[in-house]
Amino acid sequence: MPTETPQTFEFQAEIKQLLDIVIHSLYTEKEIFVRELVSNASDALEKMRHTGLTEKEVFDDKAEAEINITTDDKAKTFTIQDFGVGMTRSELVENLGTIAHSGSKAFVKALGEGDQKAAGLIGQFGVGFYSAFMVAKSVKVYTHSWRPAEPGLLWSSDGAGSYAIEESAGERRGSKIVVELKDECSEFSEEWRVKEIIEKYSAFVSFPINLNGKRINTVQALWLRGKSEIKEEEYDEFYKFQAHDSEKPRLRLHFSADAPLSINALLFVPKDNTEKMGLARLEPAVALYCRKVLIDARPKDLLPEWLRFLKGVVDSEDLPLNISRETMQDRSLVEKLSRVITKRFIKFLDEEARDRPDSYAEFYKEFGVFLKEGAALDFANKDAIMKLLRFESSLTEKGKSTSLADYVTRMGADQKEIYYLVGPSRDAIEAGPYLEGFKARNLEVLFCYESVDEYVMNNVREFDGKKIAAADHADVKLSEAPKAEGALGEEEVKALLPWLKETLGERVAEVKASDRLVDSPALALNADKFMSPHMRRLMKAMNKEGEQSPLRVNLEINPRSAVIKRLSELRTAAPDKGRLVAEQILDNALISAGLLEDASGMVKRLYKLLESV
Ligand code: ADP
Ligand code: MG
Repeated sequence: MPTETPQTFEFQAEIKQLLDIVIHSLYTEKEIFVRELVSNASDALEKMRHTGLTEKEVFDDKAEAEINITTDDKAKTFTIQDFGVGMTRSELVENLGTIAHSGSKAFVKALGEGDQKAAGLIGQFGVGFYSAFMVAKSVKVYTHSWRPAEPGLLWSSDGAGSYAIEESAGERRGSKIVVELKDECSEFSEEWRVKEIIEKYSAFVSFPINLNGKRINTVQALWLRGKSEIKEEEYDEFYKFQAHDSEKPRLRLHFSADAPLSINALLFVPKDNTEKMGLARLEPAVALYCRKVLIDARPKDLLPEWLRFLKGVVDSEDLPLNISRETMQDRSLVEKLSRVITKRFIKFLDEEARDRPDSYAEFYKEFGVFLKEGAALDFANKDAIMKLLRFESSLTEKGKSTSLADYVTRMGADQKEIYYLVGPSRDAIEAGPYLEGFKARNLEVLFCYESVDEYVMNNVREFDGKKIAAADHADVKLSEAPKAEGALGEEEVKALLPWLKETLGERVAEVKASDRLVDSPALALNADKFMSPHMRRLMKAMNKEGEQSPLRVNLEINPRSAVIKRLSELRTAAPDKGRLVAEQILDNALISAGLLEDASGMVKRLYKLLESV
């Protein structure tokens, strides 16, 4: 009950400017006023908890540590009450009439410096108490300080430039803020709407929030509690609530850091990769909090793109203190957060791979494609991510994989490069002609089955100082092969090669004797430095109509092969037939490489050859 004539005060000039923007800004999400008032109520209760520890005499000391919100859709009001510290007369003037506090101050500073974008940031960071004026015709604050000697007070304003303070009898400790809503904002006097907003932004506030008598926030901000006191089920429940998932998470990382930033983070990897299942591309889903209050549920730059499969929460106390113009513009704070969290998560995966290889393999099967994307595109973390990749190889069993680091430990003293082959499956790669020579020399070759692999290998180019090379590339040089019994003599090879080159004409760039073949008669190597056979196939599949440069390959023949020996005989004994055989050998090599583009000529020729059998 007001008990005196109100005393009126002018708002400080900066506040007038702030209110003007807040009231007239069209860009903001008005709903954030609820978040701001709940946060203030929670802060006031927190302060009371501290004050209560030292002060003996506290006004209304039996009051509950809770926040009560009521909506009245007839009167079109939104009311929030806390039993926190409350405010004295001078505190009302100081806190609600001048601008001294962090968030709003930085905001006004940015506006003063002509930063138009700042207006759009109200929704992200809030301007505290004043955000109520986005939706209010008038705001009334009924309050009683915890100090027993102070009177109850009523602060009121319509946001137009001045406010009034008068005494008010019968107030309880804390603050009760009554927002009389503008007509077009009456939605905030409806229970369902307010409930939705509280669940979105304030689900983890530690004090009970009751809406029209019903408790709404029941989930704790787990990330701020000590790991040892949290049960497995609590983590699972939290994940399901926060990620809107019905399954338990696959992996979890809970960590905190003090330097260079204060961070508490709880990150989850879901069970399934929904992108792999053909669903839409994932959106960032690790939410950014500041002291339990949501700042952004889907911050775009908090984590690099390749980590878009992560769920969870990052909470940093440093956020509001740093809302200066600088951080708004160059986003250095969020970048710093991003760096720390990304590094920490990579380290976590590294430990998982070491300590729980089976579970890591399962994770990798599902989410490895994101790691590959990271290795190719996240330049700052490339080396660390490469260590997390796994491939089958010519030395692993089918279905088992190896890391690049392990591959390197198996490299012989003369092996300079890391070799890989791309193909649709293990069987296809093993049946192809490219592997033989590497096997004969005990050189391990990594097997890559996914189209993204080739892109990754081309992008990273090296690991641990060793070049990564495609085993089917013409540039790869192998050491001298052991001379086999019964091979074509050097003279005969010398005569056969130029004859072959002439016979095959434009279709081959070069013909030479191979050191990489053991059993097959011949193989085709792409002469195009920039396009592997696999890539050429892909390009062709994607661009059926498009013009492609005519294919030219290097043909390598195996002087130890019976077919090549026979060809050498035919060259002098029956050159016409020899020509047919030569063409057929080239086509066979192209088929093995998946490069034969038109088989009709080949079929005709084959029949002709069969006639003479
Ligand atoms: P901030 O919370 O960033 O300080 P606000 O604009 O939200 O900025 O609030 C301004 C100040 O008003 C607070 O710092 C606090 O001192 C005071 N205040 C606001 N709401 C309450 C409340 N419910 N109880 C006590 N004090 C409050
Ligand atoms: Mg506040």
